[in-house]
Amino acid sequence: MTWTIKSQSINPERLIVEESLFSLANGYLGVRGNFEEGYRETDPTIKGTYINAFYDITEIPYGEKLYGFPSSQQKIVNVIDAGQVNILLGTDEEPFNLFTGEVKAYERKLQLDKGYTERLIHWCSPKGKELKLYFRRFVSFEKKELFSIQIKIEPINFFGKVKIVSTVNGDVKNYVNENDPRVGSGHGKLLTTIESKMVGEYAVVVNQTTNSGLQTACITSYQYVEGTRTDQVRDQSVETTIEFFLDKPRTVEKRNIYVDTRRHGENLSEKGIDLQNQLKTVTFEELLSEQIDYVQKFWNHADIVIHGDDKVQEGIRFNLYHLLQSAGRDPLSNIAAKGLSGEGYEGHYFWDTEIYMLPVFIMTKPEIAKQLLLYRYSILDHARKRAKEMGHRKGALFPWRTIAGGECSSYFPAGTAQYHISADIAYGFVQYYLATKDEAFFRSYAAELLFETARLWLEVGHFTGGQFKIDAVTGPDEYTAIVNNNYYTNVMAKYNLKWAVKAFKKLEKDAPELLAELKEKIQLENDEPDMWQEAAKKMFLPYDEQLKINPQDDTFLQKAVWDFEHTPKDHYPLLLHYHPLTLYRYQVCKQADTVLAHFLLEDEVTEETMTNSYFYYEGITTHDSSLSSCIFSIMGAKIGDIEKAYQYFIETARLDLDNTHGNTKDGLHLANMGGTWLAIVFGFAGIRIKEDGLHFNPALPNKWEGYECSLQYCGRAIHLKVEKERIVIEISGNPLKVSVYSKTYQVSEQSSLIVPMTKKESGVRL
Ligand code: BGC
Repeated sequence: MTWTIKSQSINPERLIVEESLFSLANGYLGVRGNFEEGYRETDPTIKGTYINAFYDITEIPYGEKLYGFPSSQQKIVNVIDAGQVNILLGTDEEPFNLFTGEVKAYERKLQLDKGYTERLIHWCSPKGKELKLYFRRFVSFEKKELFSIQIKIEPINFFGKVKIVSTVNGDVKNYVNENDPRVGSGHGKLLTTIESKMVGEYAVVVNQTTNSGLQTACITSYQYVEGTRTDQVRDQSVETTIEFFLDKPRTVEKRNIYVDTRRHGENLSEKGIDLQNQLKTVTFEELLSEQIDYVQKFWNHADIVIHGDDKVQEGIRFNLYHLLQSAGRDPLSNIAAKGLSGEGYEGHYFWDTEIYMLPVFIMTKPEIAKQLLLYRYSILDHARKRAKEMGHRKGALFPWRTIAGGECSSYFPAGTAQYHISADIAYGFVQYYLATKDEAFFRSYAAELLFETARLWLEVGHFTGGQFKIDAVTGPDEYTAIVNNNYYTNVMAKYNLKWAVKAFKKLEKDAPELLAELKEKIQLENDEPDMWQEAAKKMFLPYDEQLKINPQDDTFLQKAVWDFEHTPKDHYPLLLHYHPLTLYRYQVCKQADTVLAHFLLEDEVTEETMTNSYFYYEGITTHDSSLSSCIFSIMGAKIGDIEKAYQYFIETARLDLDNTHGNTKDGLHLANMGGTWLAIVFGFAGIRIKEDGLHFNPALPNKWEGYECSLQYCGRAIHLKVEKERIVIEISGNPLKVSVYSKTYQVSEQSSLIVPMTKKESGVRL
């Protein structure tokens, strides 16, 4: 049951949310869960089809444009719409739709273990034509260009003429909302149709972006047994009509192939037609069974089982499934903040990837993790250029938000100033290395990236009074901006610097020729690694003696605490009701900042400081960002307050399913989805990937009977089972040393490890 997300109501307000929930994607192509036959004119909808990293460039309008502000930005484009299929019944052509007539039965399902959605409908038209309709659609994991829809129509009392009118429509635009900074603004028309035609049996529409000069094409074919077909080519679309007599169940398949110039080069129609031809003899069922195989293989390595909590079980599987759908698999793409499920945050990639989502892939599908990092490596030149633009002599400053590598953030205090993204990316490279020991990758990509990001810290920070300090940056908490010595940034930079030194020494020893080449390539001077070491050693990490916490930055604790008591409930999220400056003047956090640093780098902090900081920041954090609750869940578990951890966890697990942030219509909250996994694996199971191996510190929330995690680590499959009284670790692959509750054990295929459960003390303030 927890493998299926179901909807049984047709509530117009909810349908726009379901468009995101039932969206389908494969990392390349994504389609929202719009009804094929559409809604009523007035029903809210965001009709969307997206290609990861397929973007247009739009100008950023500024009243006052200062030096170094990006003049344009990339925006994901809502591409050609191939989802529209209308069904007309009888000689009077009564249109099928779910808002007229009588819906006798209705169910929509997302099959998480099979990789498709379906709608089962029993319907009677206003004039009494009764039939059953069965829609299935999938976006293929194995053939990334393919989006297929199958419609089966079964007569109940209606036997007569059926007309299927299907369009491939190039007249599309993006969704805009001028009043929500989390959604795109400006005008939405980013594509023009440059060709619409028939090539043999294929309907072809080619669109071109206005400024980036990219093209995309959709090539559509139809599979059906009997019927007559006519095609009408219009300026911006092709409309195909298939007519048949409904005397028994009939099936029509609409098979769409999407291609784009970034992936497929020139002559898009030919490329798409080729791909269509290759699939000519393959049936819908065959393609679907390939899809099911792919998805099942994923679950074999990635499933998380919760015993005794079906609601949460549903949430975790739903979240993991959407992560699988959203991750880019080529060096051009990554994971957008909303995946491929909507246009929120304009299809941009943020630090969300490395801190919230990459760990999931590192430990379930490392080949995808590698691709995500290769994307970052591919934009390293942009990051080097941006560093120069920002006044640094060398180093790499990664863009706060981007698609193709350029900075797309127009509000620098909460954008470019978040320099920590460069350290976050470096952290991601190291975590991948520690969990895979992929030496070749480390040498060829990680080392260079670590060197260039380490250089950035030397550029932006300075030595003073025997310490290394970093001024004028913004940490993850976007309700505090442009501060000196943000704890998070400093401690992450320290890690970045330390690893750059390690990488240097490692290459010196293991691959001196490669190091020489790299030194030449990036003009690395001999004294630089020493400087990195020195900066790491002297890195200033703010600490408050009285509160015994790490202050978020130099001046954070001097500010007044936000007046939470008199803030009306409907004023959250605060960002939609208060000017940023108002927020900056108070101790109020949008999201985990110092607490997140304590999770990522726990060895830099004592348990006492960690616990005190947790309680302190908990009191002033609004969790207005969906990137927050999961971190408080992880750290709640870390400090031993399992039930509090559970409460936070509940907020993450079903955030989109229950639309608790109220904006799921704009797309799913992918970082939070990763956060759910993090909260189980790093939170309750207390797993950490460290240089000396894998550490486990499991705890069990009272509400659960137990839980199980399937993970990948250094070429082995690991299965962790946590029960009330004991934990069991099984592996397949070479024997492995692991640490459980700080004691080291050897696990092998022959002998799994069984350790009694240790109950954690419940969170006592230290
Ligand atoms: C958060 C950022 C995040 C962005 C995209 C913002 O609301 O504050 O940390 O990167 O959303 O998810």
